[in-house]
Parts: sequence; structure tokens; C-alpha cells
Amino acid sequence: MKAAIYYGPGDIRVENRPEPAATDDNVIVQVHCCAICGTDLKLATIGHHRARPGRVIGHEMVGHVVHAGADVEGFAEGERITLATTVACGDCPYCAMGLGNLCPNSLPIGLAADGAFAELMAIPPQALAGGNAVKVPPEVPDEAAALSEPMSCAINAQQIVGVGDGDSVLIIGGGPLGAIHVEVAKALGAAQVMIVELTEPRLSMIREFEDIVVIDGSQGDVAAIVKQHTAELGADVVIVAAPAARPMEESINYARKGGAVSFFASLPSGKSDVTLDSRIIHYGELQVSGASDSRPEHVQKAVELLAAGQIDYQKIITHRVSLKNIHQGLQLMKEKQSLKVLVFPPSREL
Ligand SMILES: [Zn+2]
Ligand SMILES: [Zn+2]
Repeated sequence: MKAAIYYGPGDIRVENRPEPAATDDNVIVQVHCCAICGTDLKLATIGHHRARPGRVIGHEMVGHVVHAGADVEGFAEGERITLATTVACGDCPYCAMGLGNLCPNSLPIGLAADGAFAELMAIPPQALAGGNAVKVPPEVPDEAAALSEPMSCAINAQQIVGVGDGDSVLIIGGGPLGAIHVEVAKALGAAQVMIVELTEPRLSMIREFEDIVVIDGSQGDVAAIVKQHTAELGADVVIVAAPAARPMEESINYARKGGAVSFFASLPSGKSDVTLDSRIIHYGELQVSGASDSRPEHVQKAVELLAAGQIDYQKIITHRVSLKNIHQGLQLMKEKQSLKVLVFPPSREL
């Protein structure tokens, strides 16, 4: 079968490789499509400390079961599934706390186990035991289902900072995850959703979304514009979805007193120091939190929101490429010319 394989930093090759072996304790899925994640882009540029040469990459997938082993319970041939990427060990203190996304012994699919930029992929027994394979109901189209995993990361972050009914939410960064945050915030009940982006064509792509305020960060005073839209208070929640120090440093200026800020984007190691004015956090009683990855329950929530038709997924997906042309998709992401890019294996080629 054809698969996109990691050989080293910046070296991704589409090659033939043997089909994954069906066993009594695994599930084999035929991939329908798989979205390109920021992690894949990292592999295709600077590499990743957990990836080994020979790994099939990709994890934001949907497909249908073509083999369910004799010892596997709860899955049948033909059923569609999507994945929570991080397979937790189930056995450590963090897993006991219900924080499997922070499990130090986790197995990330697409990094430490073969992923979904392929025609077929094996779902390992640990992933089945951990609830990582999440069923997709018929009302959710394939392309929507492929967004479940990135949506789940946004849901995790928004649940940590408590986005809910009537909230005003400011998202900094209009890339694929910023766009996903927009739709998740609306679906979780936010009354006012604002997003800041600096560059074209992302500004134009973001302006397609309904019922939001798009702020061109290169024009005018962002804090003043946010105040204008929030009765001079500032946003209830600010989410930093741009991987840069400056938006993190500025984010606390956009929240209202008693509000919350999520450092959702990660900064490259060695370049992750930021300077925050502690007086703004102290006197404003701000909650500043991190958010990393997601758990199966967040993927389930994503599938629920998609099934309820609450996510304008078609605006989030701006490009589609065949697996053999995955480099074109990676290039679009790298040059910030796209939001989400979907990759289709040969059986589903466009
Ligand atoms: Zn991802
Ligand atoms: Zn664990």
C-alpha cells in the first residue's frame, strides 16, 4: 500500500510498504481521509523527538473497519471511526487523575505508532482499551469527522478555561486551529467570538465565518477594538492559537478582570520564554492556563458537536490533496496559504 513515511527532519516520502498485519487483538481501518496537523508540518520541517525513521505519519483520520480481531469487543466491520491521538498507559498517577493526555508513558499515534497517511492503518490493542477509537455516526460526513481530533484539542482548552453560555471569547491567530477554536467557542455557547490575524490570505479565509468579529492585527489597537466589543471590559476568555511569544505576552491585556487566558499554541523549545506583566495577572485576578493535546472524551464531544451540525466544517477545510501530493499540502500549511488540508489515499482519490 501507499503511505507517507518519516525518514528524518524534513524528509517525508510517499512509498509502498506492506499492509499492516491483522491480529486477534487489533482493528484494521481503511482510511477515508486524514487532515494535516501542525505536528506533521513539524515532522516535515524540523522533525520531532518522538518520531523514528520508518514511521507512517498522520493522525487526524476517519476510516472504516475492515478487520476486527476475534478478541476485540465493540467494533464491527464497516463501522466508521476517528481517533484520539494520545494512547495513555492507564497505569500512572496522571492516568489515575483522569489526565491521560498528560501521561508520561503515552503512545502518540503517527509518532510512536504508525499513522493514517496510508491506505490502511492498524489500531493497536492499547488504543482500543483506552477508548481512543471513537465511532462516527452516519450524519457526520467523512470530511467533518477528520476534524474531530484537532477539534478535541480546542475543546480541551476551552473546557479548562470554562468557555460557556454568553461568554465573549477572543482568539489570537487565524490559522487552522484558530478557525477551529472559533467554531468550537460558538458551539459551546459563546455569545461574542472575536479573532485577530495579521496576514492574508488567512484574514480573508477567516472573514468567511459567520457571526464573528475579525480584527486585522496589523491595523489599529487590538485592545481598544476588543474593549469596544465587550462594553469596555475585555474578553471573558482569550485563547492564544498563534505559536509566537508576542501574542502570549500581549494576551493578558485583552482579558477582562477575573477572566481567563489559554496558552493553547506551543513555542519551540529554546524559544519559549515569555515576559508577562504580573501586575495585570495579580490585580486582574486572571487565570492563565495551558492546554495540551486531548483525551478520548474530547474527541467524543467533537463528534457530538459535528453530529449536531454545530460546526461549519466546510469553511475550516480549504484544500484537498491526494496522498501522492502530500508535499503540496504541507507546503500550503508552511506558507500559511490554507486552513485545514485533507489528504486522500488512492482508494478515495479526488
Ligand atoms: Zn493533530
Ligand atoms: Zn499513564
